[in-house]
Amino acid sequence: MLSDRAKKIKPSPTLSMDTKAKAMKAAGIDIVGFGVGEPDFDTPDNIKEAAIKAIKDGFTKYTPVGGIDPLKDAIIDKFKGDNNLDYARDEIIVSCGAKHSLYNIAQALFNPGDEVLIPSPYWVSYPDQAILNDAIPVFVKTLESDSFMLKPEVIKSHITKKTKALILNSPSNPTGLTYDKKTLEKIAEVVLKHNIYVISDEIYEKITYDGVTHVSIASFDKEIKSKTIVVNGVSKSYAMTGWRIGYAAGPKEIIKAMTNIQSQSTSNPTSIAQKAAVEALTGPQDFIALMITEFDKRRRFLINELNSIPGMSCITPTGAFYAFPNTSRLYGKSVGNRKISSSADLALYLLEEAKVALVHGEAFGDDNYIRLSYATSLDEIKKGVDRIREAVDRLSLKTSNV
Ligand code: PMP
Ligand code: GLU
Repeated sequence: MLSDRAKKIKPSPTLSMDTKAKAMKAAGIDIVGFGVGEPDFDTPDNIKEAAIKAIKDGFTKYTPVGGIDPLKDAIIDKFKGDNNLDYARDEIIVSCGAKHSLYNIAQALFNPGDEVLIPSPYWVSYPDQAILNDAIPVFVKTLESDSFMLKPEVIKSHITKKTKALILNSPSNPTGLTYDKKTLEKIAEVVLKHNIYVISDEIYEKITYDGVTHVSIASFDKEIKSKTIVVNGVSKSYAMTGWRIGYAAGPKEIIKAMTNIQSQSTSNPTSIAQKAAVEALTGPQDFIALMITEFDKRRRFLINELNSIPGMSCITPTGAFYAFPNTSRLYGKSVGNRKISSSADLALYLLEEAKVALVHGEAFGDDNYIRLSYATSLDEIKKGVDRIREAVDRLSLKTSNV
């Protein structure tokens, strides 16, 4: 009955875990949620007010498919101010979330059999979006010992005649890695030499630590800009995940194709949410600094704690709001009849026995890890890591008794 396409993909594991954890919470179970990557802060009031005003003003009708001009202009100013990138309105599209912009890109660029380079560990939707468009995800493994940074020379060995694009994600979900300018410059050289596109997912741009500033690969020169589609959005920077506003900037033929595709699928993103996004991008920005200060406290605490749990080790992320500890030393251990052999076993054990929700690393392409989102309060983080420590201790104890 179903199309071959529908049979080839799986639901988003991060959203599935979120649904499961929220259902357990609703059933009265005291779950600590490290699952979904969604800022726990409320959307700032000035942004909400802009949406309320839009409703009251009757701004509730179809808008241009690719977004209203004031929002495109706010995005253009953002690119100029933050990334020193110049775009015109016809080089910008606003979509229903960054995920939708990424999907439009896949639809506009990929032909059947095209290969898409995806550094691994990767964000969950990249491979499935390629597969949905009959393209082939080609994983380029990165190593913890390199802070999960993609080495330019490794890219070369994965490029074939069919390679169409490379997906970059800095700051990264799930590793928290941020790319430095030098490495990006070298990656840009490889990309230009082999004439492939870069899809640069910069949704966590504003969330960096330890003095790191985000660099966009598109900003180096005209040549690399002409081969890059930058994706960003308001979900993470302004705690607006539910509003569904993301955007992309790139060569106008690609943006035009994406807009045509959007015109035949979703039409415009919600009119009210677009007005809210204008306020987010042009209104006061102090919310972001407050949010990052809070994330940073949690990051320091959580990474320290995870590193003090026997059998776990975690590198210090410099961006986004995820910890990605290596848990492979726990595999092979058991408690009672339950043997932990994989990241999925460990995540399920921690959910059922410790009442802690997190995502298994295999969902991101590496079974040696688990992902914890620290977009939850410090008190919850304290409670959660205590539970994890206790559950992991039980595991170790049992094994040493065997
Ligand atoms: N890219 C990455 C790396 C993400 O983690 C997310 C999280 N949702 C997205 C894109 C999509 O964001 P949005 O809510 O704007 O669709
Ligand atoms: N990007 C977030 C995460 O990785 C939200 C979930 C999703 O969009 O898949 O948890």
